[in-house]
Amino acid sequence: MTRVTIWNEYRQERTDAAVGATYPDGIHGAVAAGLRDAGFDVGVATLDEPEHGLTDAVLAATDVLTWWGHAAHPEVADDVVERVQRRVLDGMGLIVLHSGHHSKIFRRLMGTSCDLKWREAGERERIWVVDPAHPIAEGLGDGFAIEEEEMYGEHFDVPAPDRLVLVSWFEGGEVFRSGCCYERGRGRIFYFRPGHETHPTYFHPGVRRVIANAARWASQPMGARPERGNRQPLEPLSIRSIDATD
Ligand code: ZN
Repeated sequence: MTRVTIWNEYRQERTDAAVGATYPDGIHGAVAAGLRDAGFDVGVATLDEPEHGLTDAVLAATDVLTWWGHAAHPEVADDVVERVQRRVLDGMGLIVLHSGHHSKIFRRLMGTSCDLKWREAGERERIWVVDPAHPIAEGLGDGFAIEEEEMYGEHFDVPAPDRLVLVSWFEGGEVFRSGCCYERGRGRIFYFRPGHETHPTYFHPGVRRVIANAARWASQPMGARPERGNRQPLEPLSIRSIDATD
């Protein structure tokens, strides 16, 4: 069974009554429930645990890590970010959700600012499937709508995705690359846009479907682990002298 660890900052659910009312079990609780229903073996880790809950042992037993953060990105310890990056390069899948676009781990893996436009107006979002052959689009048809969401607009400062699966349109007129696939080392990375903390987005069946499809896709490392470093020659080497007069 695919092992998913759900990482959540888990601060605003405890400090903001509206967020706590939307996600009484935390954003991680809603994401976990969706993935458990889809048949995944789910664990949870949060910022305020020792090592943010992301010890070597936890990461070694994780096929896919999901990441939701917003207000406390700078509090994530650099050595934990380093550790997560190493596991991604070694083949662990990573699903970065919503405001995770500004997390240390996503910016490090992308190498760009990951900045975007935004507006909190509770507007309608249409998520369009633009790559129906991709496994993350399975069962979505043309896409789906979310009645109230925060707007994220282009330009989104990320490298061009290896595959772009979803594009969002917002009531206010903007568009956004909402479902972006990347490969880094042996690891598969998916950025998925919706999920503002004041909207019940992680209970939406379409959103849950995308996250489950993405977890399935990201759980498969890219190829076998390559050998690197100093090597003995495969054939005997002849010693050549260099003639400076040539
Ligand atoms: Zn947000």
